[in-house]
Amino acid sequence: MSSNTEIQWKGYAVHDTKLWDQFKVTDFEPKGMEDKDIDIKIEYCGVCGSDMHTITGGWGEVKLPLIAGHEIAGHVVRVGAKVTEFKVGDRVGVGAQVGSCYDCQRCKNGAENYCHKVIHTYNSIYPDGTVSQGGYATAIRANELFVFHIPDALPLDQAAPMLCAGITTYSPLRTNGAGPGKSVGVIGIGGLGHYALQFAKAMKSDKVVAFSHSENKKADALALGATDFVNTGAENWVKEWTDTLDIILCTVDVSQHIPLSDIFATLKVHGRCVMLALPDDALPPIHPFSLMASGVLLGGSHIGSKAEIVEMLDLAAKEGVKSYIEMLPMKEIGKAVQGMKTGKVRYRYVLKADI
Ligand SMILES: [Zn+2]
Ligand SMILES: [Zn+2]
Repeated sequence: MSSNTEIQWKGYAVHDTKLWDQFKVTDFEPKGMEDKDIDIKIEYCGVCGSDMHTITGGWGEVKLPLIAGHEIAGHVVRVGAKVTEFKVGDRVGVGAQVGSCYDCQRCKNGAENYCHKVIHTYNSIYPDGTVSQGGYATAIRANELFVFHIPDALPLDQAAPMLCAGITTYSPLRTNGAGPGKSVGVIGIGGLGHYALQFAKAMKSDKVVAFSHSENKKADALALGATDFVNTGAENWVKEWTDTLDIILCTVDVSQHIPLSDIFATLKVHGRCVMLALPDDALPPIHPFSLMASGVLLGGSHIGSKAEIVEMLDLAAKEGVKSYIEMLPMKEIGKAVQGMKTGKVRYRYVLKADI
């Protein structure tokens, strides 16, 4: 069950975190092929905020040279001897994870995205010592547990960014009960937020409220399914929205200036606020009083499991969830990361493979 396709393993790598917008086409060795592994020819890769935090060194040590990118879509070109779910030619995607231990309680219970031995799509070390390299590349090798069929109704470029940004919002919406009878708030309308609004709507939540610090994204938010738009730069918004929401997803990728106590005030009793962005720095101090007042729960979330990703892609295909993308050839990755840094993108860069 393998094709004769010869893969040239190379990608656009950063060689110095100080030169994070300068990429060189660099050869790399993938991990050794195992029975459950699949080789995928990459056609598209989205540019995620995580790529930015990693290549700039904001999240700590980087195993240079590094090829980032973990919103990958393409076709299967080779399958290992024990692969059961895929065949050569299938349209597939890979997200932010390419491996786990496969054996712990979490892996065995469908929570492999929380495995303590997670192998991230790039900048992780496989048990054989290989550094994982991401999607700004010709190809990727991954265990079939971390590969997903893309439904026919979703073009590959549309599906790519759903595999990190999409699932990062879908999983906490599901886990925390979004749907009929629930009101959902989304703070920040960007790569994550534009999916959060659409999935909250697709799940038939009663209200989907978009919070943004200016009016700039109001028309987009309403087109994406928001029932209400709140400008947090205006006066008195907290008063109007106090005690109205069941679930909040916070997608704002800064640590300071997040008005957490105001955000908590919008929650109903036992409402939940899930922090999805992972800024370089810690959140501002939170006094427990601000949580106590409504018995608020503050939480986190990490991408999603295979079952959740499959479910998300089906829902996206069925309900017409759209990725708002700006397409660039992969060689213009430098331009894309600069656009990410300055917040210019609406709402995701997707790179088209060109090597
Ligand atoms: Zn990501
Ligand atoms: Zn595990």
